[in-house]
Amino acid sequence: MDKKRIQKDVVIVGAGMAGLTAAIYAGRANRKVLVLENSLVGGQIANTAGIENYPGFLSVAGGDLMGVVQQQAEKYGATVDEFDNIERLELTSQPKLVETESAIYEAKAVILASGMNRRKLPLPEAPRYDDKGIHYCELCDGHLYQNKIIAVAGGGNAAIDAAYYLTKYAKKLYVIHRSQLRADKTSVDRLLEKPNVEILLETDIVGLEGEGHLERVRIHDKATGEDRTIPVDGIFVNIGVIPNTELFKNQITLGPTGRIESGEDCRTNIPGVFAAGDIREKEIRQLTTAASDGTTAGIHADEFIQSLSRKESV
Ligand SMILES: Cc1cc2nc3c(=O)[nH]c(=O)nc-3n(C[C@H](O)[C@H](O)[C@H](O)COP(=O)(O)OP(=O)(O)OC[C@H]3O[C@@H](n4cnc5c(N)ncnc54)[C@H](O)[C@@H]3O)c2cc1C
Repeated sequence: MDKKRIQKDVVIVGAGMAGLTAAIYAGRANRKVLVLENSLVGGQIANTAGIENYPGFLSVAGGDLMGVVQQQAEKYGATVDEFDNIERLELTSQPKLVETESAIYEAKAVILASGMNRRKLPLPEAPRYDDKGIHYCELCDGHLYQNKIIAVAGGGNAAIDAAYYLTKYAKKLYVIHRSQLRADKTSVDRLLEKPNVEILLETDIVGLEGEGHLERVRIHDKATGEDRTIPVDGIFVNIGVIPNTELFKNQITLGPTGRIESGEDCRTNIPGVFAAGDIREKEIRQLTTAASDGTTAGIHADEFIQSLSRKESV
């Protein structure tokens, strides 16, 4: 059976902070908005217990915050659909086509807000310590480890920058990396100027221990073949991210980290296609910057549609 063709003004890919904020703005501009989500509405933050750096809240659970943002988007007319996976995106045509399992949407503008996933520590016990010693965001959770022993897993620039940031809290800070550092020398030198920093190279993390909360990390020194256990209160995992670009990576310009290249105006190389949130090449990836991008993308998508109507009426 042929799929139904449905017209929308704006289709948004991803119902995290960026996508839902874009939906609020495009919805308030009276646009017909559809948000497609292939997993959990709320994105990466949905399961985080206490967010303490989102303005307006002393502390708020990710699920509660994102529940309200979804309600706001729906209040202004957006449809949020979690059950209809996207099979194909055609971004260069006008209208753009978004084919899902059940329908083909024709959209005047598309906002890509599909975020990213962080690589997890490949240990079976790791999920037990999520938010109980294992963290992925130093800006978000570093302050929990005042005067504690912190480890950073990873050896790229992001890991070394995270380690540098965490030295303001740590009594002792380890960087643990399975090979040699890939970070640039200036960043490494800046880190090493800090007291109590120890870098363990050619070292695998082979086990996590602790009752309820992480207390120790077992490591394997590949050069000597020795195993030992070190006390660690918290480990910040920085072993890479996977930007969710699979659907459109062959149609759009990606930047050096595999995310979408766009300016602060969230415009991509394709007219009428905008990128918002963690999927965009940018320096700071937080809820506030995702909301900021969502605002910008939502407003520019509306302006783009206005410009189409002007062209049609000439
Ligand atoms: C554990 C953790 C704790 C954090 N804590 C904080 C904090 O305290 N404060 C803070 O400011 N930031 C925090 N962050 C960072 C913050 O969560 C991100 O910056 C923010 O969620 C980015 O929002 P986003 O909408 O760009 O992307 P995401 O939150 O990643 O949302 C993208 C959405 O798109 C969906 N999607 C992906 N591919 C597709 C597809 N093909 N089709 C449809 N949907 C798709 C995803 O399922 C997801 O729901 C934390 C991150 C993590 C991982």
